[in-house]
Amino acid sequence: MKTGKAYKFWFCTGSQDLYGDECLRNVAEHSKKIVEAFNASGIIPYEIVWKPTLITNELIRKTFNEANADEECAGVITWMHTFSPAKSWILGLQEFRKPLLHLHTQFNQEIPYDTIDMDFMNENQSAHGDREYGHIVTRMGIERKVVVGHWSDEKVQEKIASWMGTAIGIMESSHIRVMRIADNMRNVAVTEGDKVEAQIKFGWEIDAYPVNEIAEAVAAVSEADTNTLVEEYYDKYQILLEGRDEAEFRKHVAVQAQIEIGFERFLEEKNYQAIVTHFGDLGALKQLPGLAIQRLMEKGYGFGGEGDWKTAAMVRLMKIMTAGKKDAKGTSFMEDYTYNLVPGKEGILQAHMLEVCPTIADGPISIKVNPLSMGDREDPARLVFTAKTGPAIATSLIDLGNRFRLIINSVDCKKTEAPMPKLPVATAFWTPQPDLATGAEAWILAGGAHHTAFTYDLTAEQMGDWAAAMGIEAVYIDNETTIRSLKNELRWNSVYYR
Ligand code: MN
Repeated sequence: MKTGKAYKFWFCTGSQDLYGDECLRNVAEHSKKIVEAFNASGIIPYEIVWKPTLITNELIRKTFNEANADEECAGVITWMHTFSPAKSWILGLQEFRKPLLHLHTQFNQEIPYDTIDMDFMNENQSAHGDREYGHIVTRMGIERKVVVGHWSDEKVQEKIASWMGTAIGIMESSHIRVMRIADNMRNVAVTEGDKVEAQIKFGWEIDAYPVNEIAEAVAAVSEADTNTLVEEYYDKYQILLEGRDEAEFRKHVAVQAQIEIGFERFLEEKNYQAIVTHFGDLGALKQLPGLAIQRLMEKGYGFGGEGDWKTAAMVRLMKIMTAGKKDAKGTSFMEDYTYNLVPGKEGILQAHMLEVCPTIADGPISIKVNPLSMGDREDPARLVFTAKTGPAIATSLIDLGNRFRLIINSVDCKKTEAPMPKLPVATAFWTPQPDLATGAEAWILAGGAHHTAFTYDLTAEQMGDWAAAMGIEAVYIDNETTIRSLKNELRWNSVYYR
């Protein structure tokens, strides 16, 4: 998947010159060992770069500004090995503009009962120094992540790894460009929004292009290129003719192959990483892009249906945040469609007209050609599959008129009880936490949309931390949610975020 840069994170250890040279030598040696262990861990996904111990106002300020200027630096991890008077950190922190992690750790895991003396305590006093540092970060109102525990603990390393995903999202958000080749669907409220405010808050560029400009790029794709891609489809996917003529079926599939190549070239040429379409505004395109959009999502592009640029940008963001993740299960645009309300088997069937990303597929993927119940184009080819089981999150970014809110629902994905042979679209099925009735009530009270950006590979915490870094409200709906507390939270937030 095409993403941003080869990011790195800086590791900055705080101290002061009160304890003498030997202590400072130990501080440097200890922090180097921690960095080496992190880089060798196999858990932490990005390289950590060790930086010389920060002991003065000038050095702290210089280091943070170097981190700002270094395009590969996606954030700084800070740790106070000893005491480091926090007034020395004010100017540096004030000028720092990248993600910040406060690792509250200690070099030794256990108190050395037999040998501990005052020199040892002065050298190993992060319990003391990290409180002084934490105080100033809080007083300055700076958004940061705090991770607590011994650096060798896998859980601590996993928390750092998780924060790195959020940090990449914070860094890359301002590089997301969404191409609109159709306006939002008429009369629909939830897909609308303030694009200027989205650029101010998230850094997203959201631009419109006439649909026929991209249709021309599609028409310009050669038959040879199209046929090569059709061959690839036929190798990779099962073909479900379902009574259709084989040659006619192949022609329908070829239309999508031509769209995939034409769209990708147009997006590449103009440097966009997400796209929206609208089934009612297709210009010279012969089919609603279905299989083509599914394949582009698989390659890492964001997508939103019916002109939904907010969800398109969120899908792209979440794909960047999960890029390169080991054993990733997938990220997709999704839509709440229909319920199963049988007691004990409650859930929401998720799908879209066509555009569900095959990264979430479980088992074989098939191509079908079916009429579209909406619009006026020929029957589009699409990839059909069912999604994986397991925990996941569905997110909805909404515009409340004066501000944005990100709603994050933890959901449990399941298999439907029975196959749905007549349903010609890819599906997922999940039960929202804490249960369908409470989850759906909470979602509706929070104003959540029917479109979501969905992933198995990020946690609610990661998305909430991203929202906090963007300065917007995050509402979690999960096993902790009660309607009474959620309603109060929404009321309180409306005061805080106005
Ligand atoms: Mn839709």
